[in-house]
Amino acid sequence: MLLAPSRTRGREQTKGKEVGENSEVTGNQLYGSGTIRRSPLLDFMEEHYEIIAPAPITGPFRIENSLWAAEPMFAMCDPSIREVTTQWAAQGGKNLLSEGYISYTVLHNPGNVLFYGQTDEDAEMFATSRALKRAKSIPVLESVWPDSKGAKKNNQVHLGHLALEFLGINKSNARGKSAPHVICDEKHLPQWKGMGTIIKKRCSAFWDHKILNISTAGEEGSEIDLDFLRGSQEDWHLGCPACQRLVRLNWSQETQTIVWESKLSQDGSKNIREIRKTVRFKCPFEDCNCEERDSTPLRKEMNRLGGYVCDNPDAATDHRSFHVSQIAYPWVAWEAMAEEWILASEQAKSGDLSNLKTFVIETMGHTWQRRVSTSSTAHVTGGYQIVDMVFSWELEKERFATVDVQERGGRHFWVCVRAWGGGGVSRLVSAYRCESWDEVEKRIEENGVKAKRVGVDSRHATEEVKEMCAKKEWHYMVADMTRTEYEWKKPGAVAVKRPYKRSSWHDVFVRDDGRKVRRYAHGIIFSKEWARGVLSNRIAGTGTEWGLPEDVGQLVFRGTAKIESSYMAQLNSWVEKEVEIKKTGEKALQWVQINTDDHFRACEEMQLVLAAISGFFPSELTGNRKGD
Ligand SMILES: [Zn+2]
Repeated sequence: MLLAPSRTRGREQTKGKEVGENSEVTGNQLYGSGTIRRSPLLDFMEEHYEIIAPAPITGPFRIENSLWAAEPMFAMCDPSIREVTTQWAAQGGKNLLSEGYISYTVLHNPGNVLFYGQTDEDAEMFATSRALKRAKSIPVLESVWPDSKGAKKNNQVHLGHLALEFLGINKSNARGKSAPHVICDEKHLPQWKGMGTIIKKRCSAFWDHKILNISTAGEEGSEIDLDFLRGSQEDWHLGCPACQRLVRLNWSQETQTIVWESKLSQDGSKNIREIRKTVRFKCPFEDCNCEERDSTPLRKEMNRLGGYVCDNPDAATDHRSFHVSQIAYPWVAWEAMAEEWILASEQAKSGDLSNLKTFVIETMGHTWQRRVSTSSTAHVTGGYQIVDMVFSWELEKERFATVDVQERGGRHFWVCVRAWGGGGVSRLVSAYRCESWDEVEKRIEENGVKAKRVGVDSRHATEEVKEMCAKKEWHYMVADMTRTEYEWKKPGAVAVKRPYKRSSWHDVFVRDDGRKVRRYAHGIIFSKEWARGVLSNRIAGTGTEWGLPEDVGQLVFRGTAKIESSYMAQLNSWVEKEVEIKKTGEKALQWVQINTDDHFRACEEMQLVLAAISGFFPSELTGNRKGD
């Protein structure tokens, strides 16, 4: 077994003081001072590979810039290893590993290579724009490259001694092909579910096969998560520059390695600029606790003192899995990481966990543990009542009314009024069932909601809703079931992503004194999935106050479906449940409707959209950043 005990050790040894007391296990002796294990792949890369823009460091490939890549390369060349998994944070050089392995195989390690990407198009794109382009430019490979057009397609190349093929992952591609070298790209994606087993069966016919799983992290239960857990779980540690011990790169646990001071602006909000000035490394060992400000030379030195620590010494000896977080990458500033974390945490207070998820997966390279609320019951914040009194709340800055229009059982309307304050705090003011537009208008007026603060769902009676919105200056709202984000781009600026589309005006004809007049209605399209997720988190009590009055139980109405329908029953009408997918027999989390009347839930989702648009909480999404 090549997992030599002197180089990798169990989890318990990095916790507490044993590590410090035992001078044998300092980082220095593991990987420091050029003691990384070199491999033929590493030699090949240093000899032939040029890193081109837009990579953070360009020029000839030098392992000193990314020392965490040496051991995975060693494992890729080790004949006793069948599977190598890298679950790395974004921008760590994953594509370079795939490209390098392909070129190296062509030159030194003959055998067909299969590369599986997200789709056929993605795989082909990787082939033409990266892997093949690179391989062709390496002088030593010139002699093996075919001249005839017939030997080359965009997604496959037949060389004299082997073939390279680039395919999208799906059942027929996985079943129909086999090769001794298989590269599985971005295995966190859902289309990979169950494919790993098929691929393994297909290539186990080659006694010396090699499967490389190269990916960012994903959600709990994703293929990359399972691959990583099955493997040796080797975690890249940095070496403390003072005591030279290996430090686990925790972000927000008791032994946090990157720390900062909390600085507030005059208005009480977080002063990111001042906070950034205080971000630094702090050695978690109490007898050291040295503190260092970020710099490229420091980060290089800490990597030089760093090394992998094996968290799963009982894993099968032929599968090694590696994790590294951006804390180690010299080209990602700790300040920027701290800022990303602080903003994501602020956003999480409003129930929107999307940026936190991006941080965990892409910045830390960790698996995202989905938070399924154990109860489906919204909690009542209390502290106020709505019956027999005029609602007033010192934190209120704005109030919105949202309307759900129903056709079934005769035209009727569900109206929800909610007050919003800074930081995304909010309280339900009241909720109604109305029988006519006149009644809707009356409720909106008596609650003091301004025209431009009203949103109406336009799924039912669409034309009529648009006409009303044009007349009254309300917004009609469309819940988009297919998208999770929309790009917002100003000329010359970097595009940002938001969970709602740039709003737009539509002309509609309005009947006015028997004549048809052209007017404009303002429409807002938003991601249903985003709204549903954020509402669910708020119901579960995540973040700042999302208030329901103590007497919310008195909000009971004639239902659309049932004789009686309360606000609370409607709020709890959808839950996230683990269900079995009939086709595959696998279990997955899905939204399940448990009450037919869910209109107030729709109203509350629209409230979140209006509040986000009005800036009551941040809703810019950082997801889908380019990997590497
Ligand atoms: Zn130290």
